[in-house]
Amino acid sequence: MVPATASFSITSPSPSDMASPEELHPAPTTSLLPNPSTTTTTTTTTKKSLTPLLLLLATFLSFASAVLYFSSKPHPSPPTVVSRPLSTLPRPTVILISADGFRFGYQHKAPLPSIRRLIANGTSADLGLVPVFPTLTFPNHYSIVTGLYPSSHGVVNNHFLDPASGSRFSMSSHDPRWWLGEPLWETVANHNLTAATYFWPGSEVPKGSWHCPPKFCQHYNGSVPFEDRVDTVLAYFDHHDTVPSFVTLYFEDPDHQGHLFGPDDREITDAVVRIDDMVGRLIRGLEERRVFDDVTLILLGDHGMVGTCEKKQIILEDLSPWIDIRDDWVDSSSALLSIWPPAGVSPSEVVDKMNLGLSSGKVENGKSLRVFLKEDLPERLHYSASERIPPVIGLPDEGYQVLLRRPKWSSCGGGHGYDNAFFSMRTIFVAHGPPFRKGWQVPSFENVEIYNVIAAILGLKGAPNNGSAAFPGSILLPTYY
Ligand SMILES: [Zn+2]
Repeated sequence: MVPATASFSITSPSPSDMASPEELHPAPTTSLLPNPSTTTTTTTTTKKSLTPLLLLLATFLSFASAVLYFSSKPHPSPPTVVSRPLSTLPRPTVILISADGFRFGYQHKAPLPSIRRLIANGTSADLGLVPVFPTLTFPNHYSIVTGLYPSSHGVVNNHFLDPASGSRFSMSSHDPRWWLGEPLWETVANHNLTAATYFWPGSEVPKGSWHCPPKFCQHYNGSVPFEDRVDTVLAYFDHHDTVPSFVTLYFEDPDHQGHLFGPDDREITDAVVRIDDMVGRLIRGLEERRVFDDVTLILLGDHGMVGTCEKKQIILEDLSPWIDIRDDWVDSSSALLSIWPPAGVSPSEVVDKMNLGLSSGKVENGKSLRVFLKEDLPERLHYSASERIPPVIGLPDEGYQVLLRRPKWSSCGGGHGYDNAFFSMRTIFVAHGPPFRKGWQVPSFENVEIYNVIAAILGLKGAPNNGSAAFPGSILLPTYY
């Protein structure tokens, strides 16, 4: 499957969007100096009519505009090779911020001065962060903090059946038996350091040395205003000697608006501006506490978003001439179809009959759904090695929805959960702080790499995971790996 890059245009930010205090005081590298010939021309043509003071002013403005122009462009190669030492805090600290459903490209919908500031002065993924499959909220958030694919960390969907016990996982399940692997807050606590979670899937679950301490572990409540979340995190930085080593901060937007209105609506722009406001609030608060230069901020999302409409539906009821798929067989539908055939019905038979019907030309949009035995799924999806993954998996094309029966009313909105090869499922990755080069872009990568990056920044020995041991060396400055 080829990423649909052509369907999404990426525009370059204008220089005026990029101005920030850090950019106005760039490091004195030669690439930031004005072109000498341009400066000479300016001074020659104005020499006769300008006083020396005006001449000086004109030269300064020429220099300043050149600095702004050149500093607005990301450096194509590493501009610095030495990390900055901490100036205020006793040890490294990472704030991991998730904006749910922040599709890659949303960062160009509005000026977004704070996010642009982080991009211009930090390291970002040039074409976005690649989520794990399925591109859903819980599997991806937990992959980010464990470095494991869902088949390894056990959270294989937002809702699913555990065939061993017969019980179901939901987004409010906090029993540790569901949540496998070692999340970062546990790794941090196991090293006798402090972690603080302001919402993150799995963060309320006791694991190892992590017991979700009341002072540093917020229980999920979606009605808490975003400002309160930021301000609580900022309060952790009031006393420099007790700053947590690792902090999570979660926002439900712009996923919420994406589902309701699709990725191209004005509501998305407003939601993204609001996320930028929260990033700005966090930066200002860290600056006021004189720790912004020492703190590593990582801003990312869990997945992207694609428009869905009634014309792109595959109705399972339409397959009844070939096979009657009962509602209670279906574990999940919409962007990810997963089916538990009952005892006595072989999964292979379900796959064969479904694909026969779908390819017959008699089922509306049938050719936009492919059904697999899970062991026959493409290896790159890493979606078979768990007994929690149902034996029959259907992959709809981008933007198509699988529904049990034809809905009574039509609607258009947005969805996710699709194959992670679709470009629309990508999200952002922006990192800013002492371990990261300024104004640098790295090729896109999968979010299972992030666990090792954060463990390296904090100087911790992480748990085994699906990330590459070499990846931190490709993105961090030398002293951090
Ligand atoms: Zn969502």
